[in-house]
Amino acid sequence: MKATVSLARAGSYDGHELLERMRACLAPLGGMAAFVRPGQRVLLKPNLLGAFHPDRAVTTHPSVLAAAITLAQECGGVVTVIDSPGTGSLASVARATGIDAVVRAAGATLGDETAVETFETPGNIIGRKLTLLKAVADADVLITLPKLKTHVQMTFTGAVKNQLGLVPGVQKGQYHFRLQNRLRLAELLLDINRTAKPALAIMDAVYGMEGNGPSGGEPRFIGALIASADLMALDVAACDLVGIDSSVVPTVQAGIQHRFGTTALDHISIAGEPLDALRVQGFRTVAHLKHVMRILPFPQFMLDWFGRHWAPRPRIDAACCVHCGACHRGCPVDPPAIDPEMPPARQVNDHTCIRCYCCHEFCPAKAILLRRSLADRIGRFTASLDWLTTRIPGI
Ligand code: SF4
Ligand code: SF4
Repeated sequence: MKATVSLARAGSYDGHELLERMRACLAPLGGMAAFVRPGQRVLLKPNLLGAFHPDRAVTTHPSVLAAAITLAQECGGVVTVIDSPGTGSLASVARATGIDAVVRAAGATLGDETAVETFETPGNIIGRKLTLLKAVADADVLITLPKLKTHVQMTFTGAVKNQLGLVPGVQKGQYHFRLQNRLRLAELLLDINRTAKPALAIMDAVYGMEGNGPSGGEPRFIGALIASADLMALDVAACDLVGIDSSVVPTVQAGIQHRFGTTALDHISIAGEPLDALRVQGFRTVAHLKHVMRILPFPQFMLDWFGRHWAPRPRIDAACCVHCGACHRGCPVDPPAIDPEMPPARQVNDHTCIRCYCCHEFCPAKAILLRRSLADRIGRFTASLDWLTTRIPGI
C-alpha cells in the first residue's frame, strides 16, 4: 500500500487561517483524531535549534505549534512541548522563538529537557541502547513538527532529522564526534525514530530555508503545510516540492539501505494539493560532492579522506561575530576546534575540526563562513559534475 502524504496550501502564519489549513492538511489522514484519543499525553516536538526570531525561518513557527496544540486539545490530548536545543536551555530558546508564549496561552506544558531515559531497541543500527529525553517515555503519542530547511552537513533537514532534538544536549555533540560520516549519522537518526516512534509529522513549509541552512541560509516562501504518518515519505515529497534530489539526502539513503519508511516518490500517494500546484522553482540548495565521490574508483576510507579535505572549512567573520561563544560551546571536539577569542589565524584548528558545522548551526549572527578548501576551489567543476551524475542512470 502507498504511503499518504497530505499537502495543504498555507499562505501565511495568520493564526486562525493556519489552524484551518492544518485541519485541512490532516483531513486525508483521518484528522488529528486518528492520532490522538481523549486523555492521551501528547508530546509535540518542534524544531527549536536555537534562540532565533521566528522571522529567520530557523525554527518551527509558533503559529504552527499553536495550531497543532489546538487540534490535539480538541481531541482531548494533554499537550507537552519538548526539544533539546543545540545551545541554550529550552526555556530561553522557547522565549526567543515565541514558543513559550504559545505554550502558556494554550495551557500546555513546556517539557524538561534535562530529564533523560535510556531506551533499548532491538534492531537498531548504531546501538541498541539510546539515551533520549524522558519526555518520550512519558508520552502516549509523539507528533513531530519539523521545518523544511537545507542543511550544510545533511543536505536537507525535515521530519526524520527533527528527532535529533530528542537526544539530550551534550550527547548530540558526542554523536557528531563519533559518527563523522554523514551516512552513519543518518543511521543514528533512523535509530532515534525507531525508538521514539513519532506517530505523525506536520511540517512547517510556509516559509522554509534555502542556501546554507539549517540556520545560516535565507527564508524562502513555500506556502505549504505537509503531513504524513510516514516521516520518510514526507521528506521525499518535501524534497521533490523544492527541487532537492532526495536520493542524495543521507537520511533517505539510509532509509533505502535499511528499508525504513517509504523512500520512492512512486510509492507515495499525494493527498490534498498536488505537488505541482505548490512546487517551488529555483530553491537554492547546498552544494555537495557525494555523487562525484561515488563514481571515483577509491576505497571508502580514501573517499572519506577526500571528503574531509574538500569539505568547506569554518572561519569566523570578525565583522559579524558578537562573541557569544555559542560556536565554542557547541563544538563537539575536545578541546573545541573553534575559539572566537583567539587571533584570526588560530581561531579554527583545521587539523582537529571534523567539519560537522555545528558552529555554523548555532551561530546567531551568521558569523561562521564556510570557506571552500583549495582542493575544492581547484575542482570547482565538481558542482556541475555532481549535477551531471545525478542524471546518469545507474550511478
Ligand atoms: S569547528 Fe565547527 S565544524 Fe569544526 S568540529 Fe567544531 S563545530 Fe564542527
Ligand atoms: S562566531 Fe558566531 S557563535 Fe561564535 S562567538 Fe561569534 S557570534 Fe558567537
